[in-house]
Amino acid sequence: MDVRCFGGKQPTDRLTILAIKSDKNEITKMTQMRTDWTRAEIAALFDLPFTELLFQAASVHREYHPPTQVQLCTLLSIKTGGCPEDCGYCSQSVHADSGVEATKLMDVQAVLQRAAQAKDAGSQRFCMGAAWRNPKDRDMPAIVEIVKGVRDMGLETCMTLGMLEPHQAAQLAEAGLDYYNHNIDSSPEYYERVISTRDFQCRLDTLDHVRKAGINVCSGGIVGMGETREDRVGFVHTLATLPQHPESVPVNALVPVKGTVLGNMLADTPLAKIDDIEFVRTVAVARITMPRSMVRLSAGRESMSEATQALCFLAGANSIFTGDKLLTAPNAGDDSDGALFAKLGLTALKGEEPARACKSAVPAE
Ligand code: SF4
Repeated sequence: MDVRCFGGKQPTDRLTILAIKSDKNEITKMTQMRTDWTRAEIAALFDLPFTELLFQAASVHREYHPPTQVQLCTLLSIKTGGCPEDCGYCSQSVHADSGVEATKLMDVQAVLQRAAQAKDAGSQRFCMGAAWRNPKDRDMPAIVEIVKGVRDMGLETCMTLGMLEPHQAAQLAEAGLDYYNHNIDSSPEYYERVISTRDFQCRLDTLDHVRKAGINVCSGGIVGMGETREDRVGFVHTLATLPQHPESVPVNALVPVKGTVLGNMLADTPLAKIDDIEFVRTVAVARITMPRSMVRLSAGRESMSEATQALCFLAGANSIFTGDKLLTAPNAGDDSDGALFAKLGLTALKGEEPARACKSAVPAE
């Protein structure tokens, strides 16, 4: 059992370990994280002097995670564009005039080929995204085949397909899907200003279906959409007060794409790029409030300096997407990531994620 399951407290001797192991309630308690954060507490973290916040986040980070290892994930768009939703940041929405062509769901073998390439490039997880409001039941057999095929290669699987019904979540769980991504995007208040075709509760309902099906949850959002600090507080607060923290928390910086609502609104304004220090603060507060989760630097990384990325790693980010493209947005390429890792002395994560290691430590009912 990994000692990080014990909130970073190293059991001092064998007797202690045995005593802890013998008490299932104690183990269960220790594998649970604090989910009663208040907005005031989270706002106070954001308000800390930057160096103090970074120190606290780095301290929490190394209690739960190997501090110099970063998880590598690859993201593939398996069905691009033509989405009926109106997410204001998204170039794949039919409401955007971004020039993204709609495609059909990729052929199963073509997806598996791309997964094999990702594995060869060192990825641990293969994430697949489809631009749908929700998958249709007729799509599910192909999706299930893809999940099984990618898993058979020894890669972790993650899907993001839009809203899920409970029976679809169950099908994905049965296929062995490791993670389902469904972002809450922003605070409940700001969400309404970015998306009108479904409400915030729909997002939470899908996360609930995923959790109940036994699939690990990946949920985060986007900063730099013109939201306020208070919205960023509300965004982290929503995730940190879910009944169980998401195992993965992607933190994206908006890539303002011309033709999207937010791209048109923010491009060429001072708000077109989130302030680097505020972005690092958001990463740090996510790390402190959700200590065991993987915090992933996602979209927007390609426009960050190496120094900003280094600060993010110090603040507790420990997962990135590799490759040249994130769905339809540019991403930092494998070569530049390799150079940055060498410069910073970082290596690819090899072991199991702490949140999952702790789950398997809890005895079955
Ligand atoms: S973010 Fe997803 S749901 Fe929203 S428009 Fe884009 S593809 Fe559709």
